[in-house]
Amino acid sequence: MFAEFAAAHAPGMAILEDCARLVRQLGEPELAAQSGLPETTIRAFVAAHKQLQPFAELATGIPVDILILVSRWSKKVQPDLIPALLEAVRGVSHSEAEDHLRAAAREFGKPRPPRGTVGVAKRPDFWGRRRVTFHLTDAEFAQVRAESQPFIDAARAKDESLTYGQALDVWFKRQLLSPARAGKPTYKPVLLLPVDSSLIWDRGSLVTADGARVNPQELLDAQLDDTGWALQTALDADGVAQVVTVAAIQNTRFSSGVHRMIAALETLVCAWPGCHHVAAECQAHHIEAVRNGGMTAWDNLTPLCAVHNGMNDDIPERVKNGRIIRGNGGYPGLQRRPGDPVRYSANDLLTSGWRGLTYDHYARAH
Ligand SMILES: [Zn+2]
Repeated sequence: MFAEFAAAHAPGMAILEDCARLVRQLGEPELAAQSGLPETTIRAFVAAHKQLQPFAELATGIPVDILILVSRWSKKVQPDLIPALLEAVRGVSHSEAEDHLRAAAREFGKPRPPRGTVGVAKRPDFWGRRRVTFHLTDAEFAQVRAESQPFIDAARAKDESLTYGQALDVWFKRQLLSPARAGKPTYKPVLLLPVDSSLIWDRGSLVTADGARVNPQELLDAQLDDTGWALQTALDADGVAQVVTVAAIQNTRFSSGVHRMIAALETLVCAWPGCHHVAAECQAHHIEAVRNGGMTAWDNLTPLCAVHNGMNDDIPERVKNGRIIRGNGGYPGLQRRPGDPVRYSANDLLTSGWRGLTYDHYARAH
């Protein structure tokens, strides 16, 4: 039964064509009544058909749900770029398709994000509440998460049935509705220093072979004392980005969490393709399992969310979901079976951490 259902959805373009033809013959309401499909679905099918019909040949073989996604994203690019979008989603899962489309639309279309606006529902719901929606950037949400975490932890410790979202709801309302709120935003900066590998840290100052000198005191004077870390990265002899040194911008000794921090800052996002959990919500996953001799060193760690950490095949010979390994340029990615190509997260955070910045720096410098 399920196999038939899945097979029936595979020839997506043929379904869209059929739907458009039937709407012309019968009209939307009649087709909805006859087929049992909601009118909103039928409208989405017709819109997708109109947009993708000129590229029907390229769309052949792509499932209907992914064609609908392409149609939605194609509004953000010039029509002559639609073939590139179709190419981007061929053979990928639904959750990955959206990442690929976002990346392709950003690369080709360069859409500017719309000005932020708060959406307020026109009517209250059954309980007299209105739905209010707005967008936060990743950085803004990271700040919200950091500030709300102590409250959320305490609330959930008191009431175990409380979900994260429910606790966040309580926190948000307090922030918005309580008259006086103390508290400044807190940051934990990391200074990324992609530099020549001949640089060495010497007695707390950064000295170069040609005599240039960077005094961390300058950094401390900028009131960064006790706040974060300085991370020196460089390409090794094989041209792969590496961490050369990490120095805490504080007076305490390096914490044991340093390697986890380096791993989190490397990719900033769960390394599993199609996942959007930011590194702060992830666990430090051992690429080579500890029981197989894997070390707790940054190059053997990568952020994975709890779900994907659980899915990773820790025993390489026992193939089930695939496992995270280091591939091109040292980036962590998913290998389905031994020998298969490595697939990477298409979330652009992946290349926004120190590894991507180091490559950018070298590409510009040389
Ligand atoms: Zn994940």
